[in-house]
Amino acid sequence: MSTHIHPQAIIAPQARIDSTAIIEAGVKIGAKTSVWDHVHIRHDSRIGEECIIGEKTYIAYGVHIGHRVKINAFVYICNGVTIEDGVMISAGTIFTNDRFPRATTPDLRHLRPSEPDEHTRLTWVRQGATIGAGCTVGNDLEIGRFAMVGMGSLVTKSVPNFHLALGQPAASVGCVCRCGQLLLRFDEPGAVSAASVTCSACALPYAIDHGHVTECAPPI
Ligand SMILES: [Zn+2]
Repeated sequence: MSTHIHPQAIIAPQARIDSTAIIEAGVKIGAKTSVWDHVHIRHDSRIGEECIIGEKTYIAYGVHIGHRVKINAFVYICNGVTIEDGVMISAGTIFTNDRFPRATTPDLRHLRPSEPDEHTRLTWVRQGATIGAGCTVGNDLEIGRFAMVGMGSLVTKSVPNFHLALGQPAASVGCVCRCGQLLLRFDEPGAVSAASVTCSACALPYAIDHGHVTECAPPI
């Protein structure tokens, strides 16, 4: 076991923690979760079961991460971020939590504390969502269930459930299935209000009304 695991961290017996990872006090890590090299997890963050935390990823204090979450290398997750079950966050993605970031007070005499304050804004990543490689995610927003954010996107507003959002700033261009397959693109004639769509890859059925996606037969 690593000498960098604080004695007040709670690590499930079947978790695998690389010897170079830094795990602070009050952190909880669930069974069968793997934490790779040089990961730093700040105090009081919670990580569920069967997750993968890729190398050199930073998770700030008080972050909540669900079960079966896959986080690649070089991901920065700040305070105020909540990640639900089954989310994938690809390499190099950066979260933010401050709308008016300044290092100091206006007179430059005092560093602003890095603890949460009235400027800290929250970000939610709902279950099953995917964030592509190299994204920057703004704050005071939500990435919806099973939504997909394309690589290199700049997320400045909430992404609805099952939407595919791309670009800088990211905009919804279509809808995706639970399996990740594209269901439709909004620029296809009549597509935004298509009454019913069946995934060509896994056959799950959906109803889509002006961009609002309803699952007709969810698998659970
Ligand atoms: Zn599908």
